[in-house]
Amino acid sequence: MIKDRYDLVVVGAGPAGSSTAKTAAKAGFDVLLIEKRQEIGDPVRCAEGAGKKGIKRHVKPDPRWISAEVKGSRIFAPDGTKLEISEERSGAEVGYVLERKIFDRVLAEQAADAGAEVMVKTPATGLITKNGQVVGIRGRSLGEAVEIKAGLVVGADGVESLVGRWAGINTTLAPSEIETCAQFLLKGVRNDDHSEFYLSNRLAPGGYAWVFPKGDGMANVGIGVLGSRSEGGMPIELLSRFVNDKFPSAKVVEVIVGGVPVCGPIERTIADGLMLVGDAARQSDPLTGGGILNALDVGVIAGEVAAGSLEEGDVSREALGEYEKRWREKIGVSLERSLVVKERLVQLSDEDLNTLAHSIKDRNISKMGLFGMVSLLFKTNPKLLWSFRKLFKSKG
Ligand SMILES: Cc1cc2nc3c(=O)[nH]c(=O)nc-3n(C[C@H](O)[C@H](O)[C@H](O)COP(=O)(O)OP(=O)(O)OC[C@H]3O[C@@H](n4cnc5c(N)ncnc54)[C@H](O)[C@@H]3O)c2cc1C
Repeated sequence: MIKDRYDLVVVGAGPAGSSTAKTAAKAGFDVLLIEKRQEIGDPVRCAEGAGKKGIKRHVKPDPRWISAEVKGSRIFAPDGTKLEISEERSGAEVGYVLERKIFDRVLAEQAADAGAEVMVKTPATGLITKNGQVVGIRGRSLGEAVEIKAGLVVGADGVESLVGRWAGINTTLAPSEIETCAQFLLKGVRNDDHSEFYLSNRLAPGGYAWVFPKGDGMANVGIGVLGSRSEGGMPIELLSRFVNDKFPSAKVVEVIVGGVPVCGPIERTIADGLMLVGDAARQSDPLTGGGILNALDVGVIAGEVAAGSLEEGDVSREALGEYEKRWREKIGVSLERSLVVKERLVQLSDEDLNTLAHSIKDRNISKMGLFGMVSLLFKTNPKLLWSFRKLFKSKG
């Protein structure tokens, strides 16, 4: 059963929390990983796409949690113009389509194997502070009120994070900084081995629709709409329209709704005695909405810095500045770049999007990465994409 003190308490057993807990436990620290739900990974709030290389950095591939392997992606402009990209250039969200109900559980098991205690049905409900420093959490465990002291607390509690707010960190998302999503798990989709992305203001204002094949005629089919662009209707209505149109005979097996932060890096992710990681720290990609790999990668950094700070006996905000520095070095530039591209893309009309797609559809883009393609688009359409010039300046 839960003790009343740990070196590290991690709130939230998603990819970020499990990765942090595993790293710190491996370093020999006494770690508690708590999850408010009774089953880790369920319900799934994700399209489950992730790059193979990135996943393999953290866990050995296992058919139990790989639903499908995809060979690349297709992007469709509003008029149906298709751009095809190979898997290795498709970015962090294409490669595997995961089964996150199992994947997230395996990650938590890895943390447990490394020595962390894992406790489900244990929501944190507040922080314990002493002289302005976080020194533990309050919560409930299997229905009982608990107070758990901690040398350090990590908030890995996802997009709806409260831990940051409790510690006085501003994690507020304006409507223009969140994609509101709806997704169906469909059976009876004639699908192959490509992920598909559909751009159109009519279909998904300020976002996109996706089809991620899961094998056996199953697919995650979803839509993300920018919170400030709800003029076309609720995401679930837009999704129903898309599905009726594209997969009229498919059956809905599951429905999910959820949000993705698309604000780019926030100002601060640490406080005295506390770090935020993953979606709680708004570390998902503002352009694609993908956050699994960043959560895993940054979780390792959080776990290492936690171990170092606990070892030194210094968990002040200054000491935890190491975490802030390292995660920004790792993913800060790519989050900033994605933010620039996203902010311009959401201003483009369907006509603009069609013009861009036509301008490169006959070029050999299949082996180009996202920024290679953006660079080509910029060169081909300098007037339309003038605001992208700062991307290439900062690169050089
Ligand atoms: C519709 C949709 C589609 C997406 N598709 C993709 C995709 O294809 N690829 C991709 O890379 N990313 C995708 N994402 C984003 C991805 O799901 C997240 O970026 C990723 O899960 C972040 O991991 P995390 O560990 O930070 O947070 P989460 O996975 O959200 O985990 C947070 C955990 O904290 C728990 N928790 C919350 N509050 C408390 C509390 N008070 N006490 C205890 N536990 C708590 C939650 O129950 C949850 O288990 C998608 C998101 C959505 C909504």
